[in-house]
Amino acid sequence: MKCPYCGNADTQVVDSRTSGDHGDAVRRRRQCGACHKRFTTYEQVELSFPAVVKKNGARVEYKRSKLLGSLNLALRKRPVTSEQIDQAIARIEEKLIGLAQREVTSDTIGQWVMAELKQLDPVAYIRFASVYNSFEDLQSFADAIGDFLKPAKRGRAQGNAQGTAQEKAQDKVQDRAQDKTQDKA
Ligand SMILES: [Zn+2]
Repeated sequence: MKCPYCGNADTQVVDSRTSGDHGDAVRRRRQCGACHKRFTTYEQVELSFPAVVKKNGARVEYKRSKLLGSLNLALRKRPVTSEQIDQAIARIEEKLIGLAQREVTSDTIGQWVMAELKQLDPVAYIRFASVYNSFEDLQSFADAIGDFLKPAKRGRAQGNAQGTAQEKAQDKVQDRAQDKTQDKA
């Protein structure tokens, strides 16, 4: 790190501390070995999000502002705080990074958004789901609402990532029971 005052390359770190909202930045005090002036540097962890592949196959950069826009639209005039929205976005971003993939489909993100809205606010969930799924008929819309009203089916509706092992096990048992019934019929 060059000294910003005299350009000398010999600078030493005299103090380091973490900073930033999530402790993901490091603040360092440095001192120049030539002019002895002190200056501060910040190091930020660079998080890399996967590219988003849209339904038409186009690849776009992940943008937090776009995700926030979708959530705000679904949650407009609903009793949900901006802090809750921020937390929902943070959880979605954790999942994005957790994928450790170069690409993610917009469909996958849409499912995660629906899972978050389901927890936050039923009206916002239905708003988002109705646009996102572009329900073709009244029945599919009714199914989505019914899905929301049956907590037992939540695990499956939100995708396996959200379902607990117990819920999955219950689903399997139910599937087997249905199979048996069908065999008898
Ligand atoms: Zn200097």
